[in-house]
Amino acid sequence: MTTAPKRPGFPVRLDADAGTPSATKKIAGRAHPERASGLMDSKKPVKAVVTSGVGLDSKAVRARMVHKLAAQGISDAQVLAAMGHVERHRFVDTALVNQAYEDTSLPIGLGQTISKPNVVARMLELLLQGRPARLGRVLEIGTGCGYQAALLGQVATEVYSIERLRGLHDKARENLRTLRLANVHLLFGDGMAGYARGAPYAAIIAAAGGDAIPPAWVEQLAVGGRLVAPMQMAGGAQALVVIDKGPQGVTQTVLEAVHFVPLKSGTS
Ligand code: SAH
Repeated sequence: MTTAPKRPGFPVRLDADAGTPSATKKIAGRAHPERASGLMDSKKPVKAVVTSGVGLDSKAVRARMVHKLAAQGISDAQVLAAMGHVERHRFVDTALVNQAYEDTSLPIGLGQTISKPNVVARMLELLLQGRPARLGRVLEIGTGCGYQAALLGQVATEVYSIERLRGLHDKARENLRTLRLANVHLLFGDGMAGYARGAPYAAIIAAAGGDAIPPAWVEQLAVGGRLVAPMQMAGGAQALVVIDKGPQGVTQTVLEAVHFVPLKSGTS
């Protein structure tokens, strides 16, 4: 049995003796060395700090990310608070920690990716639009590294998140363990069938796109509930789709183009 290497804190702190030439180069090229003052742990001598040039503690870097999201048009206070609270760098591999707060998608292993913050925030905002202060029970298809599940845990009372790849399900479990989110439940299985035992859901969100929305998802959506998912259109391009379930039936709205990993059936 192997144990996962302990993930470093943010920012990555390198011992100068073990430091690599590239790490040294980055430090030398840091854009704002003055930001270092007052942000470092004064008790520990820090020999070298690798940053992406945006600041030295993750809270400040997240605040900048939230600021950018707001400038890009995200306005829901709950979404912005959740994005400012959940530490995205804890969900990516050590080598990518310094890119964690850039508006970019990142690989999470097994050919899958964590969406860029702007897309995650946009989808959460769509889920919360016109809803009560806090969402009720939510189903997420595609746990991946668990980042979005953690965010959902901030804005919903209960979260069920399904992942079809065992390796990622385990990774998400590990990532979420220390956060102790009692309202987030991780499930291993094929999310195409939804998760009937938790239904009906106030909201359903998918992080993988197929060429149709599986009927089980719409069935498991509560009346008054909303589903947000990527879907492949006739021309082959993917778009974000919103499905609202009302007493009279469902309405589907097709929004902007997106690029999500494919929705696949079965488990692996
Ligand atoms: N929300 C995730 C994004 C992960 S990428 C995060 O924050 O990291 C999308 C994930 O959907 C991948 O991990 C992929 O394995 C998973 N997926 C694809 N089809 C699925 C299915 N039928 N059931 C469950 N998960 C699925």
